[in-house]
Amino acid sequence: MQEGIIVKGIGGFYYVELQNGELIECKARGKFRKDNITPLVGDRVYIEKINNSQGLIKEIKERKSQLIRPPVANVDQVVVVFALKDPDISFTLLDRLLVHVEEKDLDCLICLNKSDLDEDGKFEKVYSIYTEAGYKVIKTNALKKEGLDELKAFLKGKITAFAGPSGVGKSSLFNSLQDKVKMETGVISEKIGRGKHTTRHAQLIRIDDETYLVDTPGFSTLDLSFIEPNDLQYYFKEFRNFIGQCKFSSCLHVKEKDCAIIENVEEGNICRIRYNNYLDFLNEILENRRNTR
Ligand code: GDP
Ligand code: ZN
Repeated sequence: MQEGIIVKGIGGFYYVELQNGELIECKARGKFRKDNITPLVGDRVYIEKINNSQGLIKEIKERKSQLIRPPVANVDQVVVVFALKDPDISFTLLDRLLVHVEEKDLDCLICLNKSDLDEDGKFEKVYSIYTEAGYKVIKTNALKKEGLDELKAFLKGKITAFAGPSGVGKSSLFNSLQDKVKMETGVISEKIGRGKHTTRHAQLIRIDDETYLVDTPGFSTLDLSFIEPNDLQYYFKEFRNFIGQCKFSSCLHVKEKDCAIIENVEEGNICRIRYNNYLDFLNEILENRRNTR
């Protein structure tokens, strides 16, 4: 048997890239269907070759993670891309994405693209907020290929998905990292296009040994309603240092007495923009629960 990774799936065929770079078209063996297991892009598998180009998937290794839409297994990390200008950064959207990343316990890099359009020290401002919260933050210029070394260093040896609003330069970054797959750039909102190319299947693109990119962002829905109100606090990374210090163990850090989170916001140890987003998200989750009851 040979070990490989499923990089693409089309109509019951799975394309498995072996460790030596060979691409083998595989069928899954009947056992998986009986056990109700569907192989996914990203699955690490053992295959048996039937001939030079075809084979059979015999075994699927246990998954480390699973993104749902589109379904991809074993994603290690996410590059969250925003632009320094055109479009302006939405902190609400950024924090919402980070909540999703934390909920899935994935590693994360914040990439601020269009560094050529930066003005008024925007990068420094965002950099300081998010590095203080515990994130890695870099800036890039996808058009001039600046800042890509740091990005590449982060990608090395991992499976990475890109996330972020449309127009920030995800496709451009993608294209500047590899030349196998050319993504269309400058196309307006994925949402508008959804009618045309409906179910896009994710594909893995190898950019180096053991280094893959997912060609579709795994975070198309940014709904928060599935999150337990009490869990949300843990998805704001920097809160974790203080959570145990609140007077009440059930504290949701809204206006409870002797709340360590609120105190640290007031002392400037927690960014107020992030805290306000926490409150908004908490409200949204609680309201959703009231309405669906
Ligand atoms: P996506 O929707 O996130 O995939 O964004 P695209 O890659 O399609 O880029 C949107 C627009 O921004 C395109 O017109 C790109 O040429 C442009 N763009 C991408 N990266 C940069 C950059 O670093 N600087 C500038 N000035 N424009 C960029
Ligand atoms: Zn509290």
